[in-house]
Amino acid sequence: MTKKVTLIPGDGIGPEIIASAVRVVEASGAKIEWETHVIGAQALEKFGTTLPESAIESIKKNKVALKGPLTTPVGKGFTSVNVTLRKTLDLYANVRPIKALPNVPCRYPELDLVIIRENTEDLYSGLEHVVVPGVVESLKIITEKASTRIARYAFEYARSNKRKKVTAIHKANIMKLSDGLFLSCFYKVAKDFPEIEADDKIIDNACMQLVMHPEQFDVLVLENLYGDIVSDLCAGLIGGLGLAPGANIGELGAVFEAVHGSAPDIAGQGIANPTAIMMSAVMMLHHIGEHKAAERLENAIFEVYREGKFRTKDLGGNAKTAEFADAVIAKLKAASSKAATDA
Ligand code: ATP
Repeated sequence: MTKKVTLIPGDGIGPEIIASAVRVVEASGAKIEWETHVIGAQALEKFGTTLPESAIESIKKNKVALKGPLTTPVGKGFTSVNVTLRKTLDLYANVRPIKALPNVPCRYPELDLVIIRENTEDLYSGLEHVVVPGVVESLKIITEKASTRIARYAFEYARSNKRKKVTAIHKANIMKLSDGLFLSCFYKVAKDFPEIEADDKIIDNACMQLVMHPEQFDVLVLENLYGDIVSDLCAGLIGGLGLAPGANIGELGAVFEAVHGSAPDIAGQGIANPTAIMMSAVMMLHHIGEHKAAERLENAIFEVYREGKFRTKDLGGNAKTAEFADAVIAKLKAASSKAATDA
């Protein structure tokens, strides 16, 4: 049965990498009908709002979206559309697997961990104000409800993915109330998962440990801001931002997107690495039950890396975004004709 998926091309390198992802998903044999919606700065120009109701309705109806990165103006302009989208749809769990790809030069080729980031509160509540000129206040909101919900998601994830340990990352020694609440909710939930080890680390030590001995980690659960920063750090451990996929999951739907941003410095040149969004599409295919197509696509991406002929500039190669997609499609075709011959 054909599944409808909302497609959001995004800003900067978004349209280039999304076009590649769509091509490889189609070549994987998955039956998908895309419903394209523009959100962000482009939507503001066209519809007078960054998040048109029609896009929200489409995701609510289809319950799944593949999304390119959206530009967030720094220091001025509109509120982050990524944050608004996550809040509007209550996509509370941001899942970011950190796994090295074959034959990619990186610090930790064996690394395999998963970051679960709380997506709806913390310093991302957007509550900032000027107290008196020269003094501003940003509110960090941490609730028992959201902390318990994300801890439970992390342990459920560990259980269903046969992971052994969940580590809460925090700064409860300084933020005794907010991070203290996050941590106490974590340990309360941990009691319901006796077969999974639960521990915690203070964020600064965790960062050093991640750089020096990341193999000690399995599933990490973090508040919103720490999760954002640690995700990029971990992407660096496996070869860079072009490789790290992600999913934003909630009761109303799931939005799949790369960890990286819109990379305005390389936008429009056709040189962005589409691997992160392609691997996000692999996660999406599993999510909608297209497991075979997901495996085919993942294998094809891995094959291209194993062979090492096509690599984008961020990994020291000279393949264009579209050429990398062509190479993945060639591997998918080769695998399907081999399967037909073997049958
Ligand atoms: P945001 O604030 O939107 O998360 P950011 O400030 O973290 O964005 P990115 O857009 O993620 O920044 O880019 C950070 C750096 O990584 C840039 O130099 C960019 O060119 C590079 N980069 C990001 N994504 C890719 C990609 N898919 N392929 C190649 N380089 C990338």
